[in-house]
Amino acid sequence: MRTFSKSKLMALRQCQKRLWLEVHRRDLREDSSSTEAIFQTGHQVGELAQRIYDPENLGALIDVQTEGFARAFERSAELLHAAQPIFEAGFSAGGALAFADVMLPEQQDGQRVWRMVEVKSSTSVKDYHRDDVAVQAFVAQSAGVALQSISLAHIDSSWTYPGDGDYCGLLKENDLTAEAFSRTEEVKSWIAQAQLVSASPVEPAIEIGAHCDTPFACGFYDYCSRDEPKAEYPVYWLPYIGAKAATLAEQGVIDLRNVPDDFLNARQQRVKTHTLANTVFFDAVGAAADLAAHSLPAHFLDFETIQFAVPIWKGTRPYQQNTFQFSLHTLSSSGQLDHTEFLDISGNDPSEPFARALITACSQSGPVYVYNAGFETARMSELAIRYPPLSQDLRAINARVVDLLSIARERYYHPSQQGSWSIKKVLPAVAPELRYDALDGVRDGGMAMEAFLEAIHPDTSAERKKQIEQQLLAYCKLDTYAMVRLWQVFAGRTELKV
Ligand code: SF4
Repeated sequence: MRTFSKSKLMALRQCQKRLWLEVHRRDLREDSSSTEAIFQTGHQVGELAQRIYDPENLGALIDVQTEGFARAFERSAELLHAAQPIFEAGFSAGGALAFADVMLPEQQDGQRVWRMVEVKSSTSVKDYHRDDVAVQAFVAQSAGVALQSISLAHIDSSWTYPGDGDYCGLLKENDLTAEAFSRTEEVKSWIAQAQLVSASPVEPAIEIGAHCDTPFACGFYDYCSRDEPKAEYPVYWLPYIGAKAATLAEQGVIDLRNVPDDFLNARQQRVKTHTLANTVFFDAVGAAADLAAHSLPAHFLDFETIQFAVPIWKGTRPYQQNTFQFSLHTLSSSGQLDHTEFLDISGNDPSEPFARALITACSQSGPVYVYNAGFETARMSELAIRYPPLSQDLRAINARVVDLLSIARERYYHPSQQGSWSIKKVLPAVAPELRYDALDGVRDGGMAMEAFLEAIHPDTSAERKKQIEQQLLAYCKLDTYAMVRLWQVFAGRTELKV
């Protein structure tokens, strides 16, 4: 009989085939960079939880990587005889094994009992967390641990970091004891099912579907989808197709050519028509009319931001979008184009200098074009709340914002966009000579975040920091120059190259 780790049982909960592949063909798994980033964040939050739950550093840490499973279980059992916090205590019983993030000793009727806390980097309790906690409770109780309670601690996104390393309020606990303790039979049934699935010599015949992304993107997707028919014009190019894509897939419709017209709204129909006909849609009159209300001089603005699960700057919240860079092009009524920019890679909180530089750069008048207004306006509103003396000026800039994305969505579509109006898709269609892929180092928002993190890391050399600075500046500058070019085409100031 096999003993299943908690992660294998969670794999079973997602898909029987996933468990089978985890057991027999682990080599086929390819985790996406976003899945790995989630693991890394989880690890970081887990380490911080040790400081939060053990401020006097009296606890013991089990490290299964260095100690090995047998010794980890043995030492965990030994430590239960003493009264100190235990981190990553391992238990193996009842056909499963699991490691508890936090075990805290308590007294009840003169007896030592344990309070278990599972720590997650999410900002709420998810359904799969409930399964996770049920397995933890089952394994610990089966191993004879006097478990008094089990909680799930997740990040409290409303908490503000007060600075000086004080992370006491970062985690919010949810007591799941009653629910977890009541699911013993359910967990036993998962273990029995896992035995059956893994003992099979052939992989379960399960097709790909919505479950492949829920609750996590499955690392076996490329393998499982290898023989799936590939659409020349995939249905997912239809904007906002959402759950309707699954309905179409159930009917065997994966290609735009087979989607009935009466299934589509006007914009989806436009994408279908112009994609299949390989023609450009451009409502030049409508676009020019949209822009006519906004005179020159005009500003073209873009932000770059960074998020931390564990805030590093006083006054910021977990997962808050912290602005560290902007680029601003200004087009005068005489046609002169000027550029200003801001970038702070000092490692200090860039928010206030960013806000002050932004207010200066945007001056007092003229429309402020952005691409996807919700993002920039939300950041300026947050800065206005955080810095009351700057509030009026920031709100005044917000009032001047004009969204180029909404005009692009309504007035323009090139088949090469493949259903997306991201500026990275629209720019090559409108101005093919401007290319993000020609940039050095930083070519998208994700890369900008990684570059920023590298730049502020204390181990990064001054030379490398300088290189990153140049790459970030060039990337953000292209974003706003792309908007200028888009504006020129939409306003009828430049010929559209098709
Ligand atoms: S990709 Fe989908 S079908 Fe394949 S193992 Fe993963 S969840 Fe199951």
